[in-house]
Amino acid sequence: MRSGSLSSFSQLDRRDFLKFCSATAALMGLSELYAPKIAEAVTAAAKRPSVVWLTLSCDSGCTEMFIKAKNPGPAELILDVLSVDFNDTIMAAAGEQAEENLKNAVDAGGFILVIEGGMPSKPGYGTIAGREMMDIAKWAAPKAAAVVAIGSCATNGGIPGAKPNPSGLKSVSEVLGPMGIKNVNLPGCPADPKLLIGVVMNYLLFKKLPELDDHGRPKMFYSKTIHEQCERRAYFEAGKFVEAFGTPEAEKGYCLFKMGCKGPATYAPCPTIRYNDDVNWCIMAGAPCIGCLDMKWPDNFHPFYAKLKGISVPGFGGDVTADNIGKVLGVATVAGIAVHAVGTAAKGSKKGPEKGGGE
Ligand code: SF4
Ligand code: SF4
Repeated sequence: MRSGSLSSFSQLDRRDFLKFCSATAALMGLSELYAPKIAEAVTAAAKRPSVVWLTLSCDSGCTEMFIKAKNPGPAELILDVLSVDFNDTIMAAAGEQAEENLKNAVDAGGFILVIEGGMPSKPGYGTIAGREMMDIAKWAAPKAAAVVAIGSCATNGGIPGAKPNPSGLKSVSEVLGPMGIKNVNLPGCPADPKLLIGVVMNYLLFKKLPELDDHGRPKMFYSKTIHEQCERRAYFEAGKFVEAFGTPEAEKGYCLFKMGCKGPATYAPCPTIRYNDDVNWCIMAGAPCIGCLDMKWPDNFHPFYAKLKGISVPGFGGDVTADNIGKVLGVATVAGIAVHAVGTAAKGSKKGPEKGGGE
């Protein structure tokens, strides 16, 4: 689909646009004062950044989330900011016309290449129009101004790349890295489009990609664990845990650690970005985090409902763990909930994803 047809239904009014700019500034960890600067950067751009979006080996969940996004969305809002010149899943064109559109967009160069899905390394396991997915990515990437891998399948294999990985699936970094092409990784199953918008806005505002960590993830989104940001953390530190679903403790919103929550080992912004029109997220809804935005998901995080190992709490002596912290704190717990929520960090929250994982 060409950009004209995608954007024709997309007309933001000024108020929505400024709301979008404020939300984006907050998402990027910038002050509200940056909202007018974001508006200026978007307006000043000679044309909307061109996006070529390849959907490779995956279930296209990231595209689904992209077109159903709200705040900063809905889809028409996003499409007012980006010029999506090619997307395998949502374009109207098919067959040879689609292939021609892709060729035209890639030949034009200077686009942001978004890759959703991994790439099978075994011949014949993943082809589009007779071409291996890996070859399509290798052909398009050198012409791109920037490459963004979106979703778990593209960043770390996700479900199709989980053990035993029957297609020999490779991530975007594994395929493009040896070509000297560095990409941004936005892991998530699916990844929220707000993360992509944040990367693009950073590019427009500061004329560069955001600072990345060792896994290629923007630090502005992935530098804190879920646990560090969790609204139930006071209960963790008070030793108040849900022991079974459907109990009064679950109803009271106690910590889900004993129900298998992987929040202490998962680096992700879910409590900030939230889902379902920004109203909720997994733990808020009473479900333990299964770590689906982490680079080592799913292999390092199953069984999903098994308790994380080795989480201890510093500042209370070497033997204090999530299991006995309630007893150690004893009667001080009641008065201490609010204090501990602010002042104490769980040692587990400093662990990298490689060291996390379920039992
Ligand atoms: S263990 Fe999970 S539910 Fe408990 S505080 Fe940490 S992230 Fe929140
Ligand atoms: S399972 Fe965890 S990482 Fe995945 S969306 Fe929920 S809170 Fe975020």
